[in-house]
Amino acid sequence: MTRKQQLFPVTMVGSWPRPPVVMKALRQKHEGNLSEEAFNQVADGAVVEALRAQEAAGLDFVTDGEQRRDNFYSFVAEKMDGVKLTTLAEMLDIVEDKAGFERILQTLDVPAFSMKTAMCVGKVRRRRPLALDDYRFLRGHTRSPIKVTLPGPYLLTRSMWVREVSRDAYHAKEDLGKDVVQILRDEVLALKNAGVDFIQLDEPVLTELVFTQGQTLTFMCAALAARHDPAEELEFATQLLNQVTKGVSGVRIGLHICRGNWSQNEKVLLSGSYRPLVPYMKRMKVHQFVLEFATPRAGGLEALGEVLDGKELGLGVVNPRTAEVETSEQIVKRAEEAMLYVPAERLFLNPDCGFGTFAQRPLNTPEIATAKLASISRAAAILRAAG
Ligand SMILES: [Zn+2]
Repeated sequence: MTRKQQLFPVTMVGSWPRPPVVMKALRQKHEGNLSEEAFNQVADGAVVEALRAQEAAGLDFVTDGEQRRDNFYSFVAEKMDGVKLTTLAEMLDIVEDKAGFERILQTLDVPAFSMKTAMCVGKVRRRRPLALDDYRFLRGHTRSPIKVTLPGPYLLTRSMWVREVSRDAYHAKEDLGKDVVQILRDEVLALKNAGVDFIQLDEPVLTELVFTQGQTLTFMCAALAARHDPAEELEFATQLLNQVTKGVSGVRIGLHICRGNWSQNEKVLLSGSYRPLVPYMKRMKVHQFVLEFATPRAGGLEALGEVLDGKELGLGVVNPRTAEVETSEQIVKRAEEAMLYVPAERLFLNPDCGFGTFAQRPLNTPEIATAKLASISRAAAILRAAG
């Protein structure tokens, strides 16, 4: 954060479409037919490719494209004790409310057997760093500032808590939350000490709480534990987040909140303004909110005035799921609208979400993803020249 930074930095949100060779290697690794070393050889190449695409597109902050992760949160299973990677179909055997769970799976636009989730089956402990090794690899290949993404504490607690198998180790979800906070805090501090420029915590489930009022569950369907009052859950999420970031300085910490990014069918994705989250967002101790604003589903910016007081906004300006590339003029216009609520010095530009949330379902091609990022970079150049 000490580095002199130009206005309107362009960042990735996280994932990059995994090439078929990585998808295959991930499957083989999970089946136990590929060693971690052999997998990493494949993934190393894909990370460098994703990096070069971002550099070619002129990004100011790059990521490793999450090439080693099966999805944005379940990857922690192999780094932690007390956590088991399971498919949603397997979970159907475990949960007591089978009818309810089945109903949820049916509303999914993702085949349940292809989606993995991390489940708490014992006392959780950080056996290995969650993202530090990935950061070090990327650092070895670029001089650009780096963003590292991590699942947020609420997402992890809620998705890992499956009462039927977690209750022997933890009396309640809240007890698991304490250990999750410690694990993420250790990781955040390790990343900071290693020199990471930007840590982004992902909490997409927050929108699900307010848009579904806890009634239906969509892409976070592992999280059956959250059949509670949404206000209580949001309060819990806010507290967990602030416990992770408490007293951490010297590294930019962002929070990404979106409405799901698992399908190209916009109709199945959640819809609604960030407004119901405002009272909680105001109390969240982060430097930046990384938000969606490229689709009408995200509502307007006016709701966020108070939230952005003193905070940065990572403004979503392209839809990662569409083939059509937004023009730089459209993006400039969106940024100008945002500057009614946040000054230029605190405005970052990014896609609405990652380009490949779940490994086996890339949401776009690398070519279109690169074109979209390049369009954002051109928009940033126009804005800088105008300023
Ligand atoms: Zn997202």
